[in-house]
Amino acid sequence: MSARLLALLCLLNLGVPVSLADSTSPPSQELVVYLKSDAKQPAGPLEWMKRELTPLMASAGYRVEWRDPQTANAPAVGALVVVELHGACGVPSGGFTAESPTDSVNSLASTSVSEGRVLPFATVNCPNLNRTLAPALAPEAGARRDFLYGRAMARVLAHELYHMIVSTRGHTGDGVSKPCFTTGDLLTERFEFEPAVLAKFRQSVLDRATEATTDVSGDSPATGR
Ligand SMILES: [Zn+2]
Repeated sequence: MSARLLALLCLLNLGVPVSLADSTSPPSQELVVYLKSDAKQPAGPLEWMKRELTPLMASAGYRVEWRDPQTANAPAVGALVVVELHGACGVPSGGFTAESPTDSVNSLASTSVSEGRVLPFATVNCPNLNRTLAPALAPEAGARRDFLYGRAMARVLAHELYHMIVSTRGHTGDGVSKPCFTTGDLLTERFEFEPAVLAKFRQSVLDRATEATTDVSGDSPATGR
Protein backbone atom coordinates (compact mmCIF):
# COMPACT_ATOMS: atom_id res chain seq x y z
CA MET A 1 0.00 0.00 0.00
CA SER A 2 1.31 3.38 -0.68
CA ALA A 3 0.19 6.83 0.25
CA ARG A 4 1.55 10.10 -0.93
CA LEU A 5 3.46 12.88 0.68
CA LEU A 6 2.89 16.21 -0.85
CA ALA A 7 5.09 19.20 -1.30
CA LEU A 8 2.83 21.96 -2.30
CA LEU A 9 2.25 25.31 -3.52
CA CYS A 10 0.04 27.75 -1.78
CA LEU A 11 -0.05 30.22 -4.62
CA LEU A 12 -0.07 33.92 -4.04
CA ASN A 13 2.79 36.30 -4.39
CA LEU A 14 5.58 36.03 -6.78
CA GLY A 15 8.97 37.46 -6.39
CA VAL A 16 11.13 38.10 -9.39
CA PRO A 17 14.70 37.42 -8.49
CA VAL A 18 17.84 38.15 -10.37
CA SER A 19 20.80 35.81 -10.41
CA LEU A 20 22.26 32.69 -8.98
CA ALA A 21 22.71 32.08 -5.32
CA ASP A 22 25.38 29.72 -4.18
CA SER A 23 26.32 28.36 -0.85
CA THR A 24 28.57 25.38 -0.85
CA SER A 25 30.21 23.28 1.76
CA PRO A 26 32.35 20.20 1.26
CA PRO A 27 30.31 17.24 0.02
CA SER A 28 30.86 14.07 1.95
CA GLN A 29 28.38 11.49 0.72
CA GLU A 30 27.38 10.50 -2.77
CA LEU A 31 23.70 10.69 -3.60
CA VAL A 32 22.80 8.86 -6.80
CA VAL A 33 19.64 10.15 -8.46
CA TYR A 34 18.15 8.01 -11.19
CA LEU A 35 16.21 10.58 -13.18
CA LYS A 36 13.44 9.56 -15.52
CA SER A 37 12.08 12.34 -17.70
CA ASP A 38 9.52 12.68 -20.44
CA ALA A 39 10.69 12.61 -24.07
CA LYS A 40 9.26 16.10 -24.43
CA GLN A 41 11.17 17.49 -21.48
CA PRO A 42 13.05 20.64 -22.59
CA ALA A 43 16.76 20.57 -21.79
CA GLY A 44 17.14 24.10 -20.39
CA PRO A 45 15.14 23.83 -17.15
CA LEU A 46 16.54 20.35 -16.55
CA GLU A 47 20.14 21.52 -16.77
CA TRP A 48 19.45 24.39 -14.39
CA MET A 49 17.67 22.07 -12.01
CA LYS A 50 20.79 19.91 -11.83
CA ARG A 51 23.07 22.89 -11.38
CA GLU A 52 20.95 24.50 -8.70
CA LEU A 53 20.39 21.30 -6.78
CA THR A 54 24.14 20.88 -6.37
CA PRO A 55 24.74 23.68 -3.84
CA LEU A 56 21.47 22.93 -2.03
CA MET A 57 22.47 19.34 -1.41
CA ALA A 58 26.15 20.13 -0.88
CA SER A 59 25.08 22.27 2.06
CA ALA A 60 23.43 19.13 3.42
CA GLY A 61 26.57 17.04 2.92
CA TYR A 62 25.53 15.26 -0.28
CA ARG A 63 27.12 15.23 -3.70
CA VAL A 64 24.52 14.52 -6.37
CA GLU A 65 25.34 12.08 -9.16
CA TRP A 66 22.78 11.90 -11.94
CA ARG A 67 22.10 8.66 -13.73
CA ASP A 68 19.80 7.57 -16.49
CA PRO A 69 17.71 4.58 -15.45
CA GLN A 70 17.57 3.48 -19.09
CA THR A 71 21.27 2.75 -19.24
CA ALA A 72 23.13 0.16 -17.28
CA ASN A 73 25.45 1.73 -14.78
CA ALA A 74 27.77 0.61 -12.08
CA PRO A 75 26.02 -0.04 -8.78
CA ALA A 76 25.60 3.01 -6.60
CA VAL A 77 27.86 3.28 -3.62
CA GLY A 78 26.07 5.91 -1.57
CA ALA A 79 22.45 6.83 -1.14
CA LEU A 80 20.18 6.09 -4.07
CA VAL A 81 16.84 7.53 -5.08
CA VAL A 82 14.62 7.38 -8.16
CA VAL A 83 12.93 10.53 -9.42
CA GLU A 84 10.40 10.75 -12.21
CA LEU A 85 9.40 13.97 -13.92
CA HIS A 86 5.75 13.50 -14.74
CA GLY A 87 5.04 15.45 -17.94
CA ALA A 88 7.31 18.14 -19.35
CA CYS A 89 8.59 20.78 -16.94
CA GLY A 90 8.94 24.18 -18.61
CA VAL A 91 7.12 27.33 -19.53
CA PRO A 92 7.11 27.93 -23.28
CA SER A 93 7.89 31.24 -24.86
CA GLY A 94 4.92 33.58 -24.66
CA GLY A 95 3.30 31.71 -21.84
CA PHE A 96 1.20 28.88 -20.94
CA THR A 97 -0.17 26.52 -23.54
CA ALA A 98 -2.96 24.06 -22.97
CA GLU A 99 -1.95 21.39 -20.53
CA SER A 100 -3.64 18.21 -19.61
CA PRO A 101 -5.70 18.55 -16.45
CA THR A 102 -3.79 18.23 -13.23
CA ASP A 103 -4.02 14.82 -11.69
CA SER A 104 -4.00 15.93 -8.10
CA VAL A 105 -5.03 19.22 -6.78
CA ASN A 106 -2.08 21.26 -5.66
CA SER A 107 0.74 18.79 -5.52
CA LEU A 108 4.02 19.87 -7.06
CA ALA A 109 5.74 16.64 -6.16
CA SER A 110 5.33 13.57 -4.02
CA THR A 111 7.33 10.82 -2.40
CA SER A 112 6.07 7.28 -1.96
CA VAL A 113 5.33 5.88 1.47
CA SER A 114 4.59 2.28 2.31
CA GLU A 115 3.38 1.15 5.71
CA GLY A 116 4.61 4.36 7.22
CA ARG A 117 8.06 4.05 5.71
CA VAL A 118 9.37 6.62 3.25
CA LEU A 119 10.54 4.98 0.05
CA PRO A 120 13.26 6.35 -2.26
CA PHE A 121 10.82 7.12 -5.08
CA ALA A 122 9.62 10.61 -5.91
CA THR A 123 7.61 12.22 -8.66
CA VAL A 124 7.60 15.85 -9.78
CA ASN A 125 4.28 16.99 -11.20
CA CYS A 126 5.31 19.15 -14.16
CA PRO A 127 1.82 20.30 -15.25
CA ASN A 128 1.17 21.67 -11.78
CA LEU A 129 4.57 23.31 -11.62
CA ASN A 130 4.00 24.79 -15.08
CA ARG A 131 0.68 26.25 -14.03
CA THR A 132 2.20 27.68 -10.88
CA LEU A 133 5.17 29.32 -12.56
CA ALA A 134 3.75 30.34 -15.93
CA PRO A 135 2.23 33.68 -14.90
CA ALA A 136 5.53 34.87 -13.46
CA LEU A 137 7.86 33.35 -16.01
CA ALA A 138 6.05 33.84 -19.29
CA PRO A 139 7.30 37.42 -19.71
CA GLU A 140 10.92 36.45 -19.02
CA ALA A 141 13.48 35.95 -21.76
CA GLY A 142 14.22 32.34 -22.66
CA ALA A 143 17.52 31.78 -20.87
CA ARG A 144 16.40 33.48 -17.70
CA ARG A 145 13.07 31.67 -17.80
CA ASP A 146 14.89 28.36 -17.98
CA PHE A 147 17.15 29.33 -15.10
CA LEU A 148 14.31 30.44 -12.84
CA TYR A 149 12.25 27.39 -13.71
CA GLY A 150 15.15 25.03 -13.16
CA ARG A 151 15.98 26.57 -9.81
CA ALA A 152 12.34 26.17 -8.75
CA MET A 153 12.50 22.51 -9.81
CA ALA A 154 15.64 22.07 -7.72
CA ARG A 155 13.81 23.38 -4.67
CA VAL A 156 10.85 21.08 -5.20
CA LEU A 157 13.14 18.12 -5.70
CA ALA A 158 15.26 19.05 -2.68
CA HIS A 159 12.08 18.94 -0.60
CA GLU A 160 11.43 15.36 -1.70
CA LEU A 161 15.07 14.43 -1.13
CA TYR A 162 14.63 15.69 2.42
CA HIS A 163 11.79 13.19 2.93
CA MET A 164 13.73 10.37 1.33
CA ILE A 165 17.16 10.93 2.85
CA VAL A 166 16.16 12.01 6.33
CA SER A 167 13.49 9.33 6.10
CA THR A 168 10.69 11.36 7.53
CA ARG A 169 7.14 12.31 6.65
CA GLY A 170 7.40 15.39 8.82
CA HIS A 171 8.00 18.99 7.87
CA THR A 172 9.57 22.02 9.45
CA GLY A 173 8.36 25.55 9.91
CA ASP A 174 10.50 27.22 7.30
CA GLY A 175 12.88 26.69 4.40
CA VAL A 176 12.89 23.93 1.79
CA SER A 177 11.44 21.35 4.20
CA LYS A 178 8.32 23.32 5.07
CA PRO A 179 5.09 21.70 3.91
CA CYS A 180 3.85 24.32 1.53
CA PHE A 181 5.67 26.42 -1.07
CA THR A 182 4.46 29.77 -2.35
CA THR A 183 5.31 30.99 -5.81
CA GLY A 184 7.62 33.42 -4.06
CA ASP A 185 9.46 30.53 -2.39
CA LEU A 186 9.96 28.95 -5.77
CA LEU A 187 11.29 32.11 -7.38
CA THR A 188 12.98 34.14 -4.67
CA GLU A 189 16.74 34.65 -4.70
CA ARG A 190 17.51 32.49 -1.67
CA PHE A 191 15.49 29.58 -0.38
CA GLU A 192 17.40 26.95 1.54
CA PHE A 193 17.16 24.31 4.24
CA GLU A 194 17.00 25.46 7.84
CA PRO A 195 20.15 24.81 9.93
CA ALA A 196 18.37 22.20 12.05
CA VAL A 197 17.44 20.30 8.90
CA LEU A 198 20.99 20.48 7.59
CA ALA A 199 22.06 18.92 10.87
CA LYS A 200 19.66 16.03 10.24
CA PHE A 201 21.08 15.53 6.76
CA ARG A 202 24.60 15.50 8.15
CA GLN A 203 23.60 12.96 10.76
CA SER A 204 22.27 10.78 7.94
CA VAL A 205 25.67 11.04 6.26
CA LEU A 206 27.30 9.78 9.45
CA ASP A 207 24.73 7.01 9.80
CA ARG A 208 25.31 5.83 6.24
CA ALA A 209 29.06 5.87 6.74
CA THR A 210 28.63 3.73 9.85
CA GLU A 211 26.40 1.31 7.98
CA ALA A 212 28.88 1.07 5.13
CA THR A 213 31.67 0.28 7.55
CA THR A 214 29.55 -2.37 9.20
CA ASP A 215 28.65 -3.94 5.87
CA VAL A 216 32.24 -4.05 4.70
CA SER A 217 33.44 -5.66 7.88
CA GLY A 218 30.80 -8.39 7.73
CA ASP A 219 31.31 -11.38 5.47
CA SER A 220 27.96 -11.33 3.76
CA PRO A 221 25.42 -8.83 4.95
CA ALA A 222 22.02 -10.44 4.64
CA THR A 223 20.18 -7.18 4.39
CA GLY A 224 20.98 -3.75 3.13
CA ARG A 225 19.28 -0.41 3.40
ZN1 LIG B 1 6.71 17.32 2.10
